[in-house]
Amino acid sequence: MANFASHYDVIIVGAGAAGVAAAHALAPAPLNTLVLEARNRPGGRALTYSDPLGSIDMGAGWLHSADRNPLVAVAQKQGLTIDRSPPPWQKPMPASLYPVSEQRESWAAMEAYFARVSEAAKAPIDRPAADCLEPDHRWNAMINTVSSFVNGVELEGLSVKDFDAYHDTEVNWRLPSGYGAFFADLASALPILYDCPVTAIDHSGAVMRVETARGTLTTQSVIVTLPTNLLAREVIRFTPALPDHLSAAAHLPLGYANKLFLALKGAEEFDPDTRLIGSRDRSATAGYHLRPFGRAMIEVYFGGALARDIEGEGEAGMADFAQAELVALLGSGMKARLRLIKASRWASDPSALGAYSHAKIGYWQQRQILAAPVAERLFFAGEACSAHDFSTVHGAWQTGRLSARQAARLCQVELEPQD
Ligand SMILES: Cc1cc2nc3c(=O)[nH]c(=O)nc-3n(C[C@H](O)[C@H](O)[C@H](O)COP(=O)(O)OP(=O)(O)OC[C@H]3O[C@@H](n4cnc5c(N)ncnc54)[C@H](O)[C@@H]3O)c2cc1C
Repeated sequence: MANFASHYDVIIVGAGAAGVAAAHALAPAPLNTLVLEARNRPGGRALTYSDPLGSIDMGAGWLHSADRNPLVAVAQKQGLTIDRSPPPWQKPMPASLYPVSEQRESWAAMEAYFARVSEAAKAPIDRPAADCLEPDHRWNAMINTVSSFVNGVELEGLSVKDFDAYHDTEVNWRLPSGYGAFFADLASALPILYDCPVTAIDHSGAVMRVETARGTLTTQSVIVTLPTNLLAREVIRFTPALPDHLSAAAHLPLGYANKLFLALKGAEEFDPDTRLIGSRDRSATAGYHLRPFGRAMIEVYFGGALARDIEGEGEAGMADFAQAELVALLGSGMKARLRLIKASRWASDPSALGAYSHAKIGYWQQRQILAAPVAERLFFAGEACSAHDFSTVHGAWQTGRLSARQAARLCQVELEPQD
């Protein structure tokens, strides 16, 4: 580890949204801080590729709850343009493909369903969200598809109490230059050591020891921001062991979500930000966002079991699936108009192993357990630790900043108040 000290005040493990938030908060403090990142890039599950048709976000793309999302102010400070046009899922779909009366009916069914979920969440006992469906209802498949997009899991695997704990203001904005690119930019000024996976943390002594693939460092405090699936697989060995935290991680698994980008010839035929759904009669279907930012492309979204299964078929398999659904919706002429740009495969990514967390049924309180500091010097942060904004970048950001404050306090340093 040439050019790096061997002892730190704070070591942050992972340079995703939570890790970058912690390092960003600590940057002005008179503390010796280092981020250790397994990949060769920052951003974690926020990753932007630059395509000639425009920047594409392979993971996070939306500033959810944008009217109270602290990253809006940070992006503005960076001079970034923020697109405030409504997201496609809040707009009607084309009436030529989906009769208006049916769209109204499906919206009403969805609203009634979510009201039943909120009601069910008030009970002392947790239940699968699938229990709140009306048996054999016309719109059940579509409600299940929406859940697979939002939660990365179908309704049988979704805890009503965990789902109800998520707070969403339904204001969603975007960064045309990319959410991942924003984090890459923020990270460029931070002390990050790449290609440096952490393998063990020994917190038994007065000073903690952090083992990495590139040597051992010592530190006063550590902030761990790994995705839950990695924590549960014990890619980091803790001494003494942390059974409560690892069990919490195992009960907050990452669900499945993937994106596929297709270039679209003759895109002007469609309005910008048009939304289509492959089928309203089966849950194993994709969502289609035509002309994001008015660009000549389609962003395809796969969630839940379909996202998991289709990953195995690779980019070509994902593109074939999407092409077949688009042909069924828009006619055989679509075939020659589509070209594969890129697809994500988050579950196969060894530094992620999935998309975003959900609590297993009965385990909604595990987020609190995962987020609990150990002896006020070993901290856990990341989207799964957020009480009300889990599964999101801003949730991860807030937990990273909170951990940074706690770690600084250990060294008698007070950071600026939270965003
Ligand atoms: C397809 C998809 C769409 C999404 N859409 C949105 C959206 O529109 N809006 C939104 O807000 N959120 C969205 N999300 C969720 C969002 O991306 C995540 O919630 C957020 O990025 C998680 O940040 P994090 O810091 O908790 O974890 P991560 O981003 O996963 O960061 C953890 C970091 O730890 C590193 N790491 C792993 N193992 C080690 C190790 N042993 N040593 C050192 N480093 C290690 C990883 O490489 C990674 O960089 C989406 C996610 C996906 C997959």
